[in-house]
Amino acid sequence: MNTAESSAVRGDLLSKGWSESETAEDAGLIIINTCSVRKTAEDRIWGRLGFYKKLKKNNDFKLIVIGCMAERLKDDIKSAFPAVDEVVSNFKKVEISSLIDTDISSIAAGKDGIDETYTFFENHGKLTESHSMIPIMNGCDNFCSYCIVPYVRGHEISRDNIEIMGEINSLTEKGVSEITLLGQNVNSYLFEKHDFSDLLKDILNETDIKWLRFTSSNPQDFTDKLIKLIDDSKRICSFIHLPVQHGSDAVLQRMNRKYTADEYKNLVRKLKNLSRPISLSSDLMVGFPGETDADFEALISLMNNVRFEEAFTYYYNPREGTKAYDYKDDVPHEVKLERLTRVIELQRRTSFEEKSKRIGSVEEAVIENVSKKDSNEILARTEKNSMVVYPGQITKMNEYVNIKLKDLRGNTFIGEAVCSN
Ligand code: SF4
Repeated sequence: MNTAESSAVRGDLLSKGWSESETAEDAGLIIINTCSVRKTAEDRIWGRLGFYKKLKKNNDFKLIVIGCMAERLKDDIKSAFPAVDEVVSNFKKVEISSLIDTDISSIAAGKDGIDETYTFFENHGKLTESHSMIPIMNGCDNFCSYCIVPYVRGHEISRDNIEIMGEINSLTEKGVSEITLLGQNVNSYLFEKHDFSDLLKDILNETDIKWLRFTSSNPQDFTDKLIKLIDDSKRICSFIHLPVQHGSDAVLQRMNRKYTADEYKNLVRKLKNLSRPISLSSDLMVGFPGETDADFEALISLMNNVRFEEAFTYYYNPREGTKAYDYKDDVPHEVKLERLTRVIELQRRTSFEEKSKRIGSVEEAVIENVSKKDSNEILARTEKNSMVVYPGQITKMNEYVNIKLKDLRGNTFIGEAVCSN
């Protein structure tokens, strides 16, 4: 989401006559877009602010902080770093480019609290020449007990489907063939009775988008209607991020996740029974308050049952302002680390085994770059979002090619181009 919104702010500024500087020293304006979801993300921003504070001693530029950390820690940021000119509200960042030269303080964070309205950017630009990420909703109503998002992004607000289609149509005219729809809870999208499946259907029927992705889905909002649509259209990519967080019902309940491990496994079974193989990735958290050895083994058991192709793994970090902040953070740090190590090792093995099953198959991929390791190799990304390198010279960037997967090195496939005729 931050990548897409940073790209939108950048695009807005460029359209108003700003240009991009090569270095921070040359810039007249520096905007830092921040994330609050983990403590480590915030720690990095504090470090970055220290860097710009020093830079400002000898350089004249305006320093603006936006994003979720701006919403959560506006006063702390301003008092710790007077070098910051303004901390802009998460709900007003769409106005930055028009107010930057005149009245930026009118959209300061904290002025109006968490807004009930949210204005989406109209144009989120491109991630690559052929790929764009488009937010379709903002905020979250789930209030998972460990998560700060509902407090900094507010309630779920879905974007007008007509506007979404307008943005996609203008992107396809500029050569975009792959879209990732974004939302904190993307599949709970609902705009005037138009649900997420309806939106996907519109995109499939009314645009030439070749690859359609979406993230992040919440298991409880993954309807049978959506599953059928995925089965019916190969243009919806067969790699789905479906965060489970844990495998113990007791932990899931304390996390305020709205499904049980069995319900999650049933959903996975439906997805794995589709007419083409679906690969899954997930988010897995260890060390949540009250997690016992038995709870942890339930997570390991779920991982062995589902066999995710990829997973983002992390240990619990209390986030002030969330419900779980009031729980006793009673899993000792060394136990969190031990459990995380076990989860990472299991996931590494599983990823390798699951990906190895694809060796020998031919997959479509989009050319993204020359390989960093060898200029005689091309780096491409497959429909299942895996990186593959293969011998060759790029004649056209962002071209779609068929690649036979021959080997696996770490997380990257080694392949060879096959004739598509
Ligand atoms: S679904 Fe839960 S974890 Fe995801 S953004 Fe919403 S509250 Fe946070």
